[in-house]
Amino acid sequence: MLKMPLEALAGVWRITLPLPFELSSVNVYLVRLRDGFLLIDCGLGSGESLAGLRAQLDSLNVPWRAIREIFLTHTHPDHVGQARRLLALTGAKLSLHRDELDQLLRIARGGEKPVWLDHILHTAGVPPTLVTRIEASFDRIRPNFQELVPDRVYEGGEILDTAAGPLELILTPGHSPGHLCLYSRDHRTLFAGDHILETITPNIGWLPGRDALGEFFTSLERVRPLEIDRLLPGHGEPFQGHREWIGQTRRHHDERCTQILTSLRAAGPRSAHALVSHLWSRPLAPFHHRFAVFEVLAHLEYLRRREQVFEEPANGHLLWRV
Ligand SMILES: [Zn+2]
Ligand SMILES: [Zn+2]
Repeated sequence: MLKMPLEALAGVWRITLPLPFELSSVNVYLVRLRDGFLLIDCGLGSGESLAGLRAQLDSLNVPWRAIREIFLTHTHPDHVGQARRLLALTGAKLSLHRDELDQLLRIARGGEKPVWLDHILHTAGVPPTLVTRIEASFDRIRPNFQELVPDRVYEGGEILDTAAGPLELILTPGHSPGHLCLYSRDHRTLFAGDHILETITPNIGWLPGRDALGEFFTSLERVRPLEIDRLLPGHGEPFQGHREWIGQTRRHHDERCTQILTSLRAAGPRSAHALVSHLWSRPLAPFHHRFAVFEVLAHLEYLRRREQVFEEPANGHLLWRV
């Protein structure tokens, strides 16, 4: 059944597009500009997603060419996958944060077999047969990572001028390296991307050379003081109560750190893979196992930088100890 766009506030529509995952939809936002429209995020690169977007734009009488700008909160496949197609259809200008572009290009240029992913999984102690299955589970996702040439790269702090008023770009790394939220001070509204999601804890995975979890905590504190009556997330319905959500989410990650420390104290040095088996009692499909390993690695990196855990090499793997 065709979803209808939701007018989230005057001149701003939430458009929900399908995803073939457990998480079954992603939101993109259409914002009226003084001339034309801004599209925030693009959806997954699929025929269903494109048809869904076209149908909902039809219901608003918005032709492709009326979209003048495409802004990406971050470059995960469900937000960036359709970008290249939409840029061709609309002729719009593209903008995103520099670190998101770098991440996208690194993955897109990795080709068929991203060596860095392989290497991290092996080092984390994932058995070779499971690494192969994880790689295979990403085959259908991989086409979503395509090289893009932006017209503008942002650092955070810039203002986008729209017919719904100015939108301030707020740098919120953690869930991804250069995630940007957009804040309307006038309407006390935050386009939250995947930084804050009402019923889901945003996945915080290990990022090369970064302290993803530490950065996520800093990003939560950056958003906490803002006056927000309406959060427009990358998935799910508009909601409010960001300060309560931030408190709960912070507690969730603190508990995860405590579980890891307890496990290492009780069982001695372990690989990230062994910690996953310990922390998730149910067996995980290869696709989800990869996210779990990266999540554990992000927590270990956070604890390592605070000298609460230490790594020791063992047979080409890394073991972690308290
Ligand atoms: Zn995401
Ligand atoms: Zn997402």
